[in-house]
Amino acid sequence: MTTSTTASRETLGFQTEVKQLLQLMIHSLYSNREIFLRELISNASDACDKLRFEALHNDALYENQSDLYIRVSFDKAARTLTISDSGIGMSRDEVIANLGTIAKSGTRDFFCKLSGDQQKDAHLIGQFGVGFYSAFIVAEKVSVLTRRAGEKSDQGVRWESDGGGEFSIEMVEKATRGTEITLHLRADQDDLLAGYKLREIIRKYSNHIVQPILMNKEEWKDGKYETLAEDETVNQASALWARSKNDITEEEYKEFYKHVGHDYGDPLAWSHARVEGRQEYTQLLYIPARAPFDLYDRQARHGIKLYVRRVFIMDDAEQLMPSYLRFVRGIVDSADLPLNVSREILQESKDIETIRKGCTGKVLGMLSDMAENDKEKYATFWGQFGQVLKEGIGEDAVNKDKIAALARFASTHADNAEEAVSLRDYIARMKDGQEKIYYVTADSFNAAKNSPHLEVFRKKGIEVLLLSNRVDEWMVNNLFEFEGKSLSSVAKGGLDLGALEDAAEKQAQEKQADEFKPLTERIKASLGDKVKEVRITHRLTDSPACLVADEHDMSGNLARLLKAAGQKAPNSQPILEINPTHPVVTRLQAESAHFDDWTAVLFDQAMLAEGGQLDDPAGFVKRINQLMLEMGK
Ligand code: ADP
Repeated sequence: MTTSTTASRETLGFQTEVKQLLQLMIHSLYSNREIFLRELISNASDACDKLRFEALHNDALYENQSDLYIRVSFDKAARTLTISDSGIGMSRDEVIANLGTIAKSGTRDFFCKLSGDQQKDAHLIGQFGVGFYSAFIVAEKVSVLTRRAGEKSDQGVRWESDGGGEFSIEMVEKATRGTEITLHLRADQDDLLAGYKLREIIRKYSNHIVQPILMNKEEWKDGKYETLAEDETVNQASALWARSKNDITEEEYKEFYKHVGHDYGDPLAWSHARVEGRQEYTQLLYIPARAPFDLYDRQARHGIKLYVRRVFIMDDAEQLMPSYLRFVRGIVDSADLPLNVSREILQESKDIETIRKGCTGKVLGMLSDMAENDKEKYATFWGQFGQVLKEGIGEDAVNKDKIAALARFASTHADNAEEAVSLRDYIARMKDGQEKIYYVTADSFNAAKNSPHLEVFRKKGIEVLLLSNRVDEWMVNNLFEFEGKSLSSVAKGGLDLGALEDAAEKQAQEKQADEFKPLTERIKASLGDKVKEVRITHRLTDSPACLVADEHDMSGNLARLLKAAGQKAPNSQPILEINPTHPVVTRLQAESAHFDDWTAVLFDQAMLAEGGQLDDPAGFVKRINQLMLEMGK
């Protein structure tokens, strides 16, 4: 992608997505332009954290100068703003990788899926973690001068771009380690060239940053501000989580979230606590208000930063949170772990397990609270993260019941796709004599809602949960009961409504079973191996037939899901159930010439009704056409 080269200066093209993203960002975030400073300071702070951590093993990285700070300055005449830090800095390769591409996996796909209107939505754009590129909201040209800690002074790198299609890069001298970012402001950004304005922005968005943010002192003299040589610290410069809760404002918690969560919007909820006991640690955990675009990518980065006694140890400490809570962001600061703890050590550490249990309990507790006390907020949460949380029912045996209580489902009660019914709501509405929680699974909401298996339940007014998310099959395979009520698929096994049916109904059914025995046997003989059994049913009121899975066989929906995912599914035969009160079925008793065709159609339509695929679609069409012709005769 090199487009031109002089002595040591090279011009490189941005990755296509960066170009698009830059344009969109500048336009969609313009009304909130001040955030550029928060983003650059946040990066500078991360760079200082990284240096401090690497220096634990290699003191030389400090280059005899162990102060970690961020500095903000401006030059009115040159119309520039500079943000510098004494952090880890970047090598040439790192500059190209970090400032020339969007490295996060999945970004490109996500980006391509956004519609034109969505691309203008600041919140969606914000999901990328606006980061470094937000500098171009206020700058027409950005110049980055950086050197990695521990490298020689001639290993500095200058990166420059006007935010168009390309950037230049060259090797230069840089005496001090770290990064210095100079923004050449756009013409209408002069108000940023004022100390009080910058201080105001820094205090608003970056007060919680751990390192001191330095600015030159200013003095009011002869009707204007005069800049002094002396420095002052503009922010509070202490670890927010180490402060007492009473001293932290809501705004500060929110701004800290944007820093640790790389998010653009406010969080939905948070919990800040110091835990004492076998392990002593502080946790500040946030639940975001919106799902990141890579939520379903199980490789995606996890959101918890680990600190040990205020020293940053690592990002994405996945051992601190189970996978089904991968949307949680925040920090854990341990008082007991050794500073040189590595990912490998974390994996085996009993101490980490204790912390993980504590954090998991905290988050589930926070969610239970929200579900109880702020239903609207909880609905927002569920809409964004519900499908991920459900994974926990299969993954976390210890907390299974708690998670099941938090789960929400669509059901025939409201008959819409919104997942708003909890298992407790369901139990509270159960009919007299009802012992089970009934559900149907299908691969779309409409297929679930219109499933023929629901007919008798609708007729009797018995509520059924409508499960149509992929994770639901996995969930019901792990959740057999809730608060003493077993979960039962309406499409599996014989229909046993227990006390919901009266003696007269049961007697009538037995009589019909005898009466229809010759027919069910004829159909079985005609369909052969395609079915395990043919029997009459009382599930159906409107449809002539449906398929069910035997009690211990895999449901048809799960078998289809597995096959679609390229996995092996046992070829279990379905049971064909026919509706003895349906005119097509009664008519079939007298049929002889086309009996085989009719039973084939009956089987195929039952398969279609539950969202399955036909083995021989052309055969189905041919038979239907034949029937239509005969009708006309
Ligand atoms: P993010 O911070 O979300 O990863 P950015 O676009 O803000 O995305 O930054 C990209 C990367 O560039 C960072 O992850 C970091 O590796 C590097 N970077 C940015 N600013 C600095 C800095 N001041 N010092 C060192 N590295 C930096």
